[in-house]
Amino acid sequence: MRSPVTPAPVPGPSGTAIAVDLGATNLRVALVTSTGTIEQVRVSRLPKDLPDAQVITDQIVREIRALAPGKELSKAAGIGIGAAGPVDSTRTAIVHPPNIPLDKIPLAGPLSEEFGLPVRLANDCCTGLLGEAYYGEGLRSDNFVYVTLSTGIGAGILSKGHLVLGRDGNAGEIGHVFVDEKYDLVCGCGGRGHWEGYASGRFLPRFYRAWQERNGIDPGRTPVNAAEDIFAAIRKEKDPGAHPFVSELGRINARGVSDIIVAYDPDTIVFDGSVALKNPDLVLGPILRFMDRYLPEPRIVTSPLNGRAPLLGAAIIARGYETRFGSVEY
Ligand SMILES: [Zn+2]
Repeated sequence: MRSPVTPAPVPGPSGTAIAVDLGATNLRVALVTSTGTIEQVRVSRLPKDLPDAQVITDQIVREIRALAPGKELSKAAGIGIGAAGPVDSTRTAIVHPPNIPLDKIPLAGPLSEEFGLPVRLANDCCTGLLGEAYYGEGLRSDNFVYVTLSTGIGAGILSKGHLVLGRDGNAGEIGHVFVDEKYDLVCGCGGRGHWEGYASGRFLPRFYRAWQERNGIDPGRTPVNAAEDIFAAIRKEKDPGAHPFVSELGRINARGVSDIIVAYDPDTIVFDGSVALKNPDLVLGPILRFMDRYLPEPRIVTSPLNGRAPLLGAAIIARGYETRFGSVEY
């Protein structure tokens, strides 16, 4: 554990960078200075029907043009994209994303052609980690794991101050670890019992219904279409923390967290993503009750960056793949 320090300068050209955070639900684009100030941000929803990948690239182009007029664009240091993975081995496209119904989404090529700027792409596990490492938890720890509980679940790993990337930069696809056979739910990737198939924003409503069914609970009149509906319903109870579904979700999340602890031995696990940030008491608190204690217990915290980590990380890779924590070039 280091004592708090100020963020180190980001390597690469110093102009404003264009950061793109392509999730499975929302697209965010931002202008980010070399010192990590987000000057402007635009958020848009991805359409539910995606006939082809062009729809996504067109939306990114429109949003970037709305963000930055031509003159500012031509001076930009580059475009960095953090995308819900997996990223392909050429680092130009995402392939078989479990939460977007397309086989391949080429990103770097079409956007580079459109804007005449360098475009660099990484798994959003990696951009989230980089943002956190430069501006958030990384200011006090060299050994932490960044976990996003959002539409999907992913992680970024900083080990002794180095990025852990794996072959294609997908080492943090932790949402696809096995956590359960009791409910035997199928994940978006096709696997069974994966963490993301239970505790992600996309699959929490299905897990909740499966839990109700297993316990003979009438779904009643409260429709549960989104993760937030579940937490809103639970918060109406006298003691939300004692709700049995909160415990069941805590058990599932603790399996994923226990795997992270034995795989990476972090001193801290930083949670990000709307599911964790909106409900830290109901989602993160119960993990402590169920997680394994074979190795020393890490701190479990929420990101101090209020959802900005993936954009800040995308701006870092926009300036080049070299970072203070190692190269994203793999
Ligand atoms: Zn999976």
